[in-house]
Formats: sequence, structure tokens, C-alpha cells
Amino acid sequence: MPSPPERILILGGTAEAAKLAAELVEQGKTTVITALAGRTEYPASLAGDVRIGGFGGVDGLAAYLSTEGITRVIDATHPFARQISANAIEACRKADVPLTVHLRLQWLEQPGDRWIMVETLEAAAQTLPQGARVFLALGRQYIDLFAQRTDCHFVIRMVDAPSTPLPFTHADIILGKAAADWEAEKALLEGHAITHLVTRNSGGEASYGKIIAARKLELPVVMIARPVAC
Ligand code: NAP
Repeated sequence: MPSPPERILILGGTAEAAKLAAELVEQGKTTVITALAGRTEYPASLAGDVRIGGFGGVDGLAAYLSTEGITRVIDATHPFARQISANAIEACRKADVPLTVHLRLQWLEQPGDRWIMVETLEAAAQTLPQGARVFLALGRQYIDLFAQRTDCHFVIRMVDAPSTPLPFTHADIILGKAAADWEAEKALLEGHAITHLVTRNSGGEASYGKIIAARKLELPVVMIARPVAC
């Protein structure tokens, strides 16, 4: 008897997840559902089906896997999205569904890079010198702490416009996503007379452009390390 068709759940929200969904849909043998947390107001269109919103913790995810007849889960979430990855391990164990984890390699410092390694957002904020013009390449939920540095000017890139005013004294907001194109990122850094870049070690190609741009401009990069076990 032929085995039932695969129903794959991709835990997404990354360029890698989108690419994977497109490849699997292209193969045409499986049903592909990509789950998004719903953080972005207008997510890019994805191949296959899309489900938006949390599952309600481990039990909610485990129930979804069983109800929807999911035969495999692929965790292709961002390396700093720790909760959903932990939930996926536990929920797949409970629902007895195989889990594949897509690990994204960290960026490594290259000749010409001027990285200041820090472990936390707090340390990143403290390490900035007075008067710095800082490009904050962090998600919305990670930036508030930098507002205490009223002696610095911040340029903050966000995917969606903030729904409430940001608590910064000196800041410009740029709407958009990180680019792989380092020349575009370099022009952006130069255009805002940036002296420091703050980013997390997310890894991957889609947002590496700013790292190359900082190298070309010989700018210091405050690099926030991944949490242990990423
Ligand atoms: P998180 O802290 O690991 O997850 C918090 C909660 O959000 C989870 O418990 C889950 O809610 C829900 N959730 C997260 N990812 C989900 C997904 N792909 N599908 C459905 N529900 C999801 O996650 P986060 O750091 O807020 O990131 C949220 C999403 O944004 C992730 O999918 C990630 O790939 C993407 N992203 C994150 C970052 C980052 O810096 N963290 C950067 C780029 C993209 P329930 O418990 O209710 O299921």
C-alpha cells in the first residue's frame, strides 16, 4: 500500500525557510505549510500554505501536529528565536513527529573586520562611545535599552513602522529589511555618517551585506554573540 503523502510544517520567518518552502513545493510531492509568528505586518509571499500566529506553547503545537496530520517538522527559524525551537523539540517528541533543525552558521570575523564582541544587549549599549552615530540592526523587541544612551544618535532599521513612538531622544527610523547587497548597505551607512554598527551574530547571507559594508568602511561592529547552545 502506498504511504500517505507527506505534510511538512516549516517553522519559518527566515529567508532560508522561504527558500526551503519554494524547493519543496517545486518538487510537488508534499503539502508544505509554513508557520509564521505574525511579527511582520506584510510578510513576503511564500510558496505553499501559510499559517500565521503562535500555536499556544508546546501543547498547542503538539495538538496542531496531530490534528493536521503533519508528518515532518522543519525548524528553519532564526537562531535567536529560542522559544519556538525549544517548543518544537518538545512538541515533536509528544506528537511523535520527526523534527529536522536547520542550523544557520555564525558569521566569523574576517581580515579587515573591527568587531567588538559582547554577550548581551546591555554590554552592547555600554560599549558605545559618547557621540557615536549608531546603526542599530536589531529587531524591534531588542532596541529599547539603547534609548538610555541619550549621548548617541541612533539610526534604526525596522521592517514595519513602530505602532507607538520609540523612546529615543536622537533617532532616525529607516523602514526596510537587511540587504545582502553590501554596496547598498555601504551607501546607507555612509549616507547617515554612521560610526558604529550594532548587530547580533545571526549568520546567513541575507543580512551579511552590512557586515561587508562595515569592513569596507573600517567601522567598528558591536557584535552580540549568540546565546549559548545556538
Ligand atoms: P521566539 O521567542 O522563539 O517565540 C516566541 C513565541 O512566538 C513562540 O513561543 C510561538 O508562540 C511564537 N512563534 C515564534 N516563531 C513562530 C513561528 N515560526 N510560527 C508560529 N509561531 C511562532 O521567537 P521570536 O524571537 O519572537 O521570533 C519570531 C519569529 O520571527 C520566528 O519565526 C523567527 O524565525 C522570526 N525571526 C526572528 C528574529 C529574531 O531576532 N528573534 C529575526 C528574524 C526573524 P506559541 O508558543 O504561542 O506557539
